Amino acid sequence: MTSTSRRAFLAGGAGVAAALALPTAAGAADQEPGGPEPITADVAVVGAGLAGLTAARRLAAAGASVVVLEARDRVGGRTLNHAIGGGKVAEAGGEFVGPTQNRIVALAQEVGLGVFDAYDTGQNIYVNGLAHLKYSDTGLLGTAPPDPLLLLDIIKLSQQIDLMVRNFPVATPWTAPNAAKYDAETLESWVRANAINDNGIVGILRPFTEALVGAEPGDLSFLHVLAYVAGAGDETHPGTFERLFNVRNGAQQSRIVGGSQLISERVAAALGSSVRLSTPVRGIAQTDSGVTVTSDAVTVTAQRVVVAVPPPLAARIDYAPLLPAARDLLTQRFAMGALMKVEAVYPTSFWRAEKLTGQFLTVGGPVGYAFDNSPPDGTPGVLAGFVGGTQNHIWGPKPPAERRAAVLAQYARLFRDDRFLSPSDYFDMDWTQEEWSRGGPTAIAAPGTLTSFGPALTAPVGRIHWAGTETSDYWQGYMDGAVRSGERAAAEVSSLL
Ligand SMILES: Cc1cc2nc3c(=O)[nH]c(=O)nc-3n(C[C@H](O)[C@H](O)[C@H](O)COP(=O)(O)OP(=O)(O)OC[C@H]3O[C@@H](n4cnc5c(N)ncnc54)[C@H](O)[C@@H]3O)c2cc1C
Repeated sequence: MTSTSRRAFLAGGAGVAAALALPTAAGAADQEPGGPEPITADVAVVGAGLAGLTAARRLAAAGASVVVLEARDRVGGRTLNHAIGGGKVAEAGGEFVGPTQNRIVALAQEVGLGVFDAYDTGQNIYVNGLAHLKYSDTGLLGTAPPDPLLLLDIIKLSQQIDLMVRNFPVATPWTAPNAAKYDAETLESWVRANAINDNGIVGILRPFTEALVGAEPGDLSFLHVLAYVAGAGDETHPGTFERLFNVRNGAQQSRIVGGSQLISERVAAALGSSVRLSTPVRGIAQTDSGVTVTSDAVTVTAQRVVVAVPPPLAARIDYAPLLPAARDLLTQRFAMGALMKVEAVYPTSFWRAEKLTGQFLTVGGPVGYAFDNSPPDGTPGVLAGFVGGTQNHIWGPKPPAERRAAVLAQYARLFRDDRFLSPSDYFDMDWTQEEWSRGGPTAIAAPGTLTSFGPALTAPVGRIHWAGTETSDYWQGYMDGAVRSGERAAAEVSSLL
C-alpha cells in the first residue's frame, strides 16, 4: 500500500458512517475531484478468480447488486492462458479437472466450455538415482511409479491413508479422530514412522508434493494432508490418494477446451461492468450497518463483502476494526506454496510417436514432474514441468537463460532424446513473483494451524465472508474447490441479505 492510499483508508475507517451514507448517485456527485469513485452495491466481492466470480455470478442471479474488485488487469487469478500461436493456448496456471470435480465442470459447461482428455497414451518415465524405468499407468499403481524398492511402501501407505480418510469431516478437519496428534506431525514425520524404506519414500514424495502443493513433505501438517486427500472426492465418493495422484480416473484426467482461464473470462463478461479490473482492495471497514471496501480507484459501500483471495493475501488488506486474533494468526500460518510452471514448445509432440505420454517423475531438479500440455490436436507439442518447493527456491532466483538451459538439458537427459534441447518457444511462470498470488498452487497449513485456528478459515467476521479454494471442503487447492467456495459464500450472504 502506498502511504497516500493507506492514509485514505485510515481516514475512510474513521469516517465509515459518512461513507456508508452515500447512495450511488449522490455519492458520485459528492466525489472529491480525483478521489476514489463511490459505488453502492448489496455485495462487494474482492478478487476475480474462480471463487470470487462464482460468488458474484450466484449473487447476481439471486437478484443482488454486486461489484467485483480485482487487483490484476485480468480475471482468472491462478489460472492463466498463454498464447502459443495459431489461436491456441497452453495454461501457465491451473488446468486439469477430473472425476468428482463436478462444480468446475458444471461451471465450464454453463459458459459453453467442454473438456478433453489430457494426453495419456503410452509410457511414463521414472528416474531415481540409477533407476530409469518406463511404465504404463494402466497398471494397479496408476500414475505411481513401480519402483521395486518403493513398491511395498507405496501400496501400504496409500492404502493406510485411504482408510484414515474414510468418514473424514472434510469441512471441519480439526474435529477428526486424532486431529491434534496428526496436526502435530508433518507428512514426512508420519511417513518416516510408517514406511519400510523411509528415506526412499520421502525422496520420491518430494517431487510429488513439490508439484502438488509447491512444498516439501516436511512443511505439511499431516492433518492438512489427510484433509486434502479426504477432499479428493465429493459428497458421494470418499476422497482417495489415488484420485489425487492419478491422471487416468484422477485429478489430472481432463482439461478445458480453450484453456481454463476462459471460464473466468466468460463469467466476467456476463457480469459486465460490475467487474472492476486493476482495482486492488486496500482496506475493509465495517460498522453495524454496512461495510466500506476501499481501493485507490473506488470506494464501495455494501451490506456484505466476500473476500475471495488466498488467506496470506487476505492478510495484506487493512481491516477496521481489526480481525479477531484467531483469523490473523491463521493467515500467518497458512502460507502459499512455491511453484513455477516451465513450458517448452516444439513444432510437434514428437514423444507421442515414441509411445511416450510425456510424463516423467524424477528425484532432483529443476523439474520434478512433467507432462504433455499440448492443445487437443497435439500441435504444437508442449511439454510442461513443475519446479516447486525447494527446487523453486533454488531455481526461481537464477537467470532465466540458465534455468531454461537446465530444464531443457534435463528433458533431453530423462527422455534420452536431444530433440528436447531445441524448442521453438519456451516460457515459464513463477507464481511466487506474482504480486497478487505470491505463490501457488494453493496455501498450505503448517503443523498446529488447523487444530488451533481452523474454524477461522471460513467463519464470517461480521459482514466479511471468506471464499477462495483454500476454504473449500472438497477439492481445496483446486479450481473445483474455488468454485465450491464461491457457491458456499454466495449462499451464506444470500441468506443474510
Ligand atoms: C502453477 C499452478 C498449477 C495449478 N494446477 C491446477 C490444476 O491442474 N487443476 C486445478 O484444479 N487447480 C490447479 N491449480 C490451482 C488453481 O489454479 C486454484 O486453486 C484456483 O484457480 C484458485 O482460485 P481462487 O479464486 O480461489 O483464487 P485466485 O485464483 O488466486 O483468485 C484470487 C483473485 O484475487 C485477486 N486479488 C488478490 N488480492 C487482492 C486484493 N487485495 N484486491 C483485489 N483483488 C485481489 C487476485 O489477483 C486473483 O485474481 C494450479 C495453480 C497453479 C498456480
